[in-house]
Amino acid sequence: MIPYSRQSINDDDINEVIKVLKSDLITQGPIVQKFAKTICTYTSSNYSVLTNSATSALHIACLSLGLGKGDILWTSPNSYVASANVGLLCNAEIEFVDIDPFNYNICIHALSDKLKNAEKYGKLPKIVMPVHFAGQSCDMKAIKKLSKKYGFKIIEDASHAIGGSYNDTKIGSCRFSDITVFSFHPVKIITTAEGGCATTNNTEIFENLKLFSSHGVTRDPKKMVIKTDEPWIYDQISIGLNYRMSDLNAALGLSQILKIDKFITKRHEIARNYSKQLKAIDLVLPKQEDYSLSAFHLFPIQVKNRKKVFNLLHQNNIKVNVHYRPIYTQPFWQKKGFKYGMCPNAEYYYSRAISLPMFYDLNDEMQNKVIEVLKKSCL
Ligand SMILES: *Cc1c(COP(=O)(O)O)cnc(C)c1O
Repeated sequence: MIPYSRQSINDDDINEVIKVLKSDLITQGPIVQKFAKTICTYTSSNYSVLTNSATSALHIACLSLGLGKGDILWTSPNSYVASANVGLLCNAEIEFVDIDPFNYNICIHALSDKLKNAEKYGKLPKIVMPVHFAGQSCDMKAIKKLSKKYGFKIIEDASHAIGGSYNDTKIGSCRFSDITVFSFHPVKIITTAEGGCATTNNTEIFENLKLFSSHGVTRDPKKMVIKTDEPWIYDQISIGLNYRMSDLNAALGLSQILKIDKFITKRHEIARNYSKQLKAIDLVLPKQEDYSLSAFHLFPIQVKNRKKVFNLLHQNNIKVNVHYRPIYTQPFWQKKGFKYGMCPNAEYYYSRAISLPMFYDLNDEMQNKVIEVLKKSCL
């Protein structure tokens, strides 16, 4: 069986996890801190907060920027449902901005037009959450420019995109955003099993992220309300959850991030080979923007007869997947009144999309099989 994606874990990774298992601290020990620091160094960001999933990181990212009742969050319909769910969990209203048919990311023109309109009606978003689909960065300078004009905050959902770059900056640097979120789910670029991370350059946001991820509790004397010499005292100074990553998961992540550049290089090789072998076939290959170096979490193609191609690949044990059914077409969002036709580019793209197998351990033999079956099924 060839999956569309899977983790790549070797003995080094396993040994690092075992070391933690044999140590005194398996949850909030030294490795979480070390992994957090490594992510900051890798992405050139000032701060990072590790969480038990990207969904948790997106949730506390929204909370940290003060998203609440009466606020509006805009995101891409071409994403996993989590991108929109977290806004709704903060009691905000959600709206979707259509995608660009070239790069499948949030369309800058659609965003700009929608903002102009929203300003007229007093319905500007508090947060815009661009999603770096398949690992390719959105045009962050353009989004940042709009944020200055219209006064919204930016959370990058970079769940697909650790290891990718925008111009010459690594995704996660937050040069053009307030917060960036990564996912370390096994199908993503590097894994901690379940896990995620939020990076930021802003001290206050960082403090908020930490509090929301850990019960609103602090032992930092500078932040504590109680001035005491009783060392067991901690203060709850805000509301919070337990969204923390454990040292077990962090040990896997720390071991994995050491290999990230190797992982990305391999994904580019696979992408180049797909593009070369499939260019004469009647399908649409993913296009790359000059400003982007993709992390290539996915290799999304568009085909005319998607169901037939999908089924033929599956019959040959190639378990391709589809990313994404536009979020607002899900029954839950339909019940809330979202209508088909809102984001025609996202719907059109979805009607033809298939994500081909793309992962570090995909070897030539496997890739050739995928290409061969695909060629036959596209005839
Ligand atoms: C995977 C993913 C998430 C959720 O990540 P988890 O770590 O599984 O919570 C959110 N957004 C996008 C775009 C994703 O691909």
